[in-house]
Amino acid sequence: MFENLSERLSGVFDRLTKQGSLSEEDVKTALREVRVALLEADVSLPVARDFIKTVQDQATGQAVTKSVTPGQQVVKIVHDALVDTLTGAEDPGALKIDNPPAPILMVGLQGGGKTTTTAKLAKRLKESDGKRVLMASLDVNRPAAMEQLAILGTQIGVDTLPIVKGEDPVAIAKRAKTQASLGGYDVYMLDTAGRLSIDEELMAQVEAVRDVANPRETLLVVDGLTGQDAVNTAQNFDDRIGISGVVLTRMDGDGRGGAALSMRAVTGKPIRFVGLGEKMDALETFEPERIAGRILG
Ligand code: GDP
Repeated sequence: MFENLSERLSGVFDRLTKQGSLSEEDVKTALREVRVALLEADVSLPVARDFIKTVQDQATGQAVTKSVTPGQQVVKIVHDALVDTLTGAEDPGALKIDNPPAPILMVGLQGGGKTTTTAKLAKRLKESDGKRVLMASLDVNRPAAMEQLAILGTQIGVDTLPIVKGEDPVAIAKRAKTQASLGGYDVYMLDTAGRLSIDEELMAQVEAVRDVANPRETLLVVDGLTGQDAVNTAQNFDDRIGISGVVLTRMDGDGRGGAALSMRAVTGKPIRFVGLGEKMDALETFEPERIAGRILG
């Protein structure tokens, strides 16, 4: 993850740390390169600009007067600014799941990793939090997706709502709620249908489901490799549906990391979890420190 950005930044800072002292011009030159690195990582322009300005304001005065280890000083300032930009929630992994049965709505575009993430999160809730979880697929147009959730459920030992042919998503959501109450489940997860792109029909359907389920958490699952598209998708879903957080998937790929850096700054919504592979345990709580560390290398 973040390979390009990481390498680029270390190149810039290697040069800085080798110099005895740091002039204002050095800081400027280095940050110009950081800016290019951020844009190449598909960080949105305003976010990159704000980020550079923060670092520049902090680095300049300091680095010129204190010349002990100027390069390291800049690295520290960049690190802290990265953590700042990445930080969204105090405890990203803490889901609001009191008052059982607590509904969690999973939304996102097709192929983003929604069904996989629903199962990963269910497994985590079961194993780490000792919760009884019921999962339901609402993807009535894609029977294969409904089957897929059932298969994953069997694999991880989490119940899925039995599939009833011909039922619409709102009816399934209502049945999931009833079943979750009667069955004594702590949480029920609604895996909504995705589309290849955002369209009115999809949004209207998700909205209708949201209105009957009244979810405690609405998590948007997006492919972290898609950079600014992921951020735009999040913005669209938040405007229309209202989301409580983002799960960035495929962060195990050699993606450019721009989505993580822009997400909070652009949408105001925190990244809650990160998907790191296809396996059922490849889900981690989002940790800004760790990601900032990886970016800097
Ligand atoms: P959905 O259409 O949004 O429900 O997407 P799926 O959950 O079916 O996922 C689509 C594909 O992406 C599947 O092959 C998943 O195994 C894969 N996938 C999901 N999350 C990750 C991840 O974090 N990393 C990787 N490498 N693959 C993932």
